[in-house]
Amino acid sequence: MSAPTYTIPKTQKAAIVQSAGEALKIVEDHPVTQPEQLAPGECLVKLECTGVCHTDLHAAKGDWPIPAKTPLIGGHEGVGIVVAIGAHTQDSPVQLGDRVGIKWLAYSCLDCEYCRKGLEQVCPKGKYSGFTVDGTFSQYVVSWVSHVTPIPENLESSEAASILCAGITVYRAIKYSNAKIGDWICLPGAGGGLGHLAVQYAAAMGLRVLAIDTGAEKRDLVLKLGAEKWIDFRETKDLVADIKAATGGQGPNAAVVTAANSAAYEQAIDYLRPGGYLMMVGLPGHGKLAADIFFTVIKSISILGSYVGNRQDAREALEIASRGKVKCYFSLKPLSCLEETYKGMEEGKVVGRVVLDMKQ
Ligand SMILES: [Zn+2]
Ligand SMILES: [Zn+2]
Repeated sequence: MSAPTYTIPKTQKAAIVQSAGEALKIVEDHPVTQPEQLAPGECLVKLECTGVCHTDLHAAKGDWPIPAKTPLIGGHEGVGIVVAIGAHTQDSPVQLGDRVGIKWLAYSCLDCEYCRKGLEQVCPKGKYSGFTVDGTFSQYVVSWVSHVTPIPENLESSEAASILCAGITVYRAIKYSNAKIGDWICLPGAGGGLGHLAVQYAAAMGLRVLAIDTGAEKRDLVLKLGAEKWIDFRETKDLVADIKAATGGQGPNAAVVTAANSAAYEQAIDYLRPGGYLMMVGLPGHGKLAADIFFTVIKSISILGSYVGNRQDAREALEIASRGKVKCYFSLKPLSCLEETYKGMEEGKVVGRVVLDMKQ
């Protein structure tokens, strides 16, 4: 079979932030990296769609302790087709025409101690899509053959997009939360973009899900997705007592917290059952955890952090989704809706995820 050939245009549509905090600009004439400009190991991916993540908003605003590159093309939940591979690339795991995902971790050395131990995401040579290298809010993106993720055949591109960051992140966090089959897991923010995926991964892993969020719409969603119990944090008078009561009086075995405020983390120390695990996943720019040391010690609570996932986590998260166990609730919009999506995120008005259709 002969390899497919692709005509690569010289320019493309892209959403660019010139400097941190500046308004996003959509341009039609951003240069496309040409196949002969690719280094060995690099590939060019023509995007079909890309998810929008809270991290993109932080990167555009520059409100994290670590600043993003500028000018910046954000985006790290892209799905597209490999249309060029750098000359002299050896043993590429992907071929021209393959459908692949672009995730947050665009590159790692695969040779340092962290990479060898499966912690690629903290590789000192790591490159991050839409942060330290240009991301997926453009029609073409340069990435690395070693780190693009093959998309399972029966998973739609728009379904796969949000799995590439939100899905991988919560999947890995639950996997490393030490919750075992039949254990209770508490998911504050269960009705949100990360949370609603966490509910489904947890249920698929045989865990009993206690979902916490607010409003009838989110309640109905999480119960439909497999949560066994629900608490509305706006309606409860004593959240800690209600959580313990909902989980047989002892409290949940693990809490995977995706919230961006400190209170959600601190409460977990109070409601977790002795021997429980607090897994921190949310990324507030400047939050501190004021855990009570006395109770953390005498309850033998473990406090853990989890950050995106490695290539294997990505494969597993996509595989579970491709078997219909996890479905992302998203709305498909054109790239021109990116700015208003950011606004909606800041106001907490985005239900589920937004996926941008890059073919429009
Ligand atoms: Zn993300
Ligand atoms: Zn490394």
